[in-house]
Amino acid sequence: MFYCPVRIISGDNAMQKAESHLAVLGKKALIVSGRNSAKLSGALEDLNHILSRLGIASCIFDKVTENPVLQDVIEGSEFMREQACDFVIGVGGGSPIDAAKAISLAAANRLQASELYLTDKFLKAFPIVAIPTTSGTGTEATQYSVLTDPLEKKKAGFGHPLAFPKLAILDAKYTYSLPAEITLHTALDALSHLLEGLYSNQRSPLMYPCIYSGIGLIIKQLPVAMIDGRNKEARAELMQASLYGGMVIAQGSTTLQHSIGYPLTSEYNIAHGLANAMVMEEIMNLYQPHVHKELDALFAALQIGKEQFLEWLNALPYQKNVHISDEFITTAIPQIMASRNMALNPLQVSAVDIRRILEKIRM
Ligand code: NAP
Ligand code: ZN
Repeated sequence: MFYCPVRIISGDNAMQKAESHLAVLGKKALIVSGRNSAKLSGALEDLNHILSRLGIASCIFDKVTENPVLQDVIEGSEFMREQACDFVIGVGGGSPIDAAKAISLAAANRLQASELYLTDKFLKAFPIVAIPTTSGTGTEATQYSVLTDPLEKKKAGFGHPLAFPKLAILDAKYTYSLPAEITLHTALDALSHLLEGLYSNQRSPLMYPCIYSGIGLIIKQLPVAMIDGRNKEARAELMQASLYGGMVIAQGSTTLQHSIGYPLTSEYNIAHGLANAMVMEEIMNLYQPHVHKELDALFAALQIGKEQFLEWLNALPYQKNVHISDEFITTAIPQIMASRNMALNPLQVSAVDIRRILEKIRM
């Protein structure tokens, strides 16, 4: 099975090409963004231009922070209802787009903060449009939204078919303003998604062309985009790889690699993609005996060996270790074991496996 119910418009002038599809979504849009990226990237200006040409009114909720919190989703949903908006447009990285998805569901179903993970309460949604300004999460093509409960210090995602965007508008020029470090962390997130698609016990050969191609594009273009952020081909191909990663995880979710990353982010404020990258080699080694045929086929398609791949990965300038407390290890392990993504691992992962991986990245 391969399911992707999203109309994806990509390439130069994607915003203009999407005009007729935006026109049918309603008379008033709620634009959801972070503080700066929607403006910095140029996406907000292009969007406002198209909306005013179409006669679509809009209002903006621009308070979304990295790792969006439940309370902001509720505030956004109340604002959406007050303003009587017909649809939601998330502009930015994964954080504003995930918040836009949750705001749509919370507003349509009148949810409280405590109900945001109760997917059986999701009966309808306002149409969702995604305009990414990072190349990493692939959220424009997934049914997931990842939210943080700051009181519980808990980061977790939900998945529901109503959270798939109706429309995704992908123009790589919106990623030109990304600094090298965010380019790196977000590309490592996309790489995690593509690898986890291969590891997941929901894997299917229908995903392999996306996985092989996406990983190949990241290996080729990430170093280019980090040096030359306005390199058109590199930015376009990273955006394509990120989309492929989203399409892949939409089929079967992520695995332990993401489950370990979430508490590292909520406790130590480690960027999402970086948290995945820190454990990438260890996860590959843990899974390898259970997916060796799949990994061999991947490396054959990429025309490199596993050792060469790991050399490439380890040469990238990302933080490899973190100070981790004993207390964190004790509280994080049961949280990780209970997370939704653990059902997708290619083997039965134990608390001992998780402890060993955390000890490996400990400073
Ligand atoms: P992000 O948290 O959306 O943004 C990270 C930083 O990049 C923010 O400071 C943001 O600024 C800035 N930024 C974004 N675009 C920019 C641009 N074009 N130029 C300059 N700065 C820019 O990062 P992300 O990695 O894309 O998203 C991560 C979130 O997505 C995590 O919460 C993760 O768990 C989630 N995620 C979701 C899925 C899914 O399928 N739903 C999959 C993977 C990950 P502003 O604050 O101004 O926006
Ligand atoms: Zn991710």
